[in-house]
Amino acid sequence: MNLNRRTLLTTASAASAAAMLGTSSALSTAAAQTAPAGKQAPAFYRYKIGSFEVTSVNDGVNRFPLPDTFVRNAKKEEVQAALADAYLPTDVMTIWFNPTLINTGSRLILIDTGLGDPKGPIGHLRPNLAAAGIDPKAIDTVIISHFHADHINGIRNGANELNFPNAEIMVPNGEWDFWMSDDNMNKAPEAMKGAFGNVRRVFKGLEDKVKKYNADQEIAPGLTTIATPGHTPGHISYALANGNDRVLIQSDVTNNPHLFVKNPGWHVQFDMNGPEAEATRRKFYDMAAADKLLVAGFHFPFPATGYVEKVGTGYRLVPVSWNPAL
Ligand SMILES: [Zn+2]
Repeated sequence: MNLNRRTLLTTASAASAAAMLGTSSALSTAAAQTAPAGKQAPAFYRYKIGSFEVTSVNDGVNRFPLPDTFVRNAKKEEVQAALADAYLPTDVMTIWFNPTLINTGSRLILIDTGLGDPKGPIGHLRPNLAAAGIDPKAIDTVIISHFHADHINGIRNGANELNFPNAEIMVPNGEWDFWMSDDNMNKAPEAMKGAFGNVRRVFKGLEDKVKKYNADQEIAPGLTTIATPGHTPGHISYALANGNDRVLIQSDVTNNPHLFVKNPGWHVQFDMNGPEAEATRRKFYDMAAADKLLVAGFHFPFPATGYVEKVGTGYRLVPVSWNPAL
């Protein structure tokens, strides 16, 4: 039988499709006796940067009805067209979350912590770390890129205990100063007050324990901080270098890349200063593209690593190809 689009579209049953493809329907029946797993495989992906082992660990995905003003300076129809181009649903927004774990050989460093306890499709960092063989007690350092909930909430579990009890917690000076200021909280718009409250909840009791860091500083072996303001005032990205390898860990330089890598001029509603975030984005990706650097994106689709090329006035994300060998 001819394998063409028309026969595929008009094939009424799976059995005849199987027959058409040359598989026996008896075999299909036997295979169907295994119960479907009904859930996804654990999501962690390892790669090497020099002798360091880096693991992208998925915390899940959030989907919510697409707000009319999700992109402040683009029409909803334009946003929906970009989602359709990526074969994503156009009536909901899809946002992935992917913290990065670095094993230097002597230290375990986790950058950002996800949303906390598992709840539906989010909060899977700890189960995925467990699947990757990582004991949360073994993590030496937790580094926070900025103070939005999807990056700090996983510092604690639902019982308010520390998820990584032996880790020192490092936070950007600029974020601490901004979010801990009562003055900033009092003058913040009503919609932002919750974010200020959340920061205070998470860091309560840790005020004297957190270690603060600045931009342009090597805060762990091979890990240098980069000022990338705009998304939040003290937002930080990182360059991790070891041997001849380097990866840029961008944090939230962009949200969903199908929208914002492609259209760097679009300002997501989460960017606290849209024009500044855009300037940061263009500078960051111009550098990544010029040097053909690997980029890890907290909000990229898993495994959340790829290369960024310049295309016209925007960029294109080329995701890494699965590598079964390290
Ligand atoms: Zn984020």
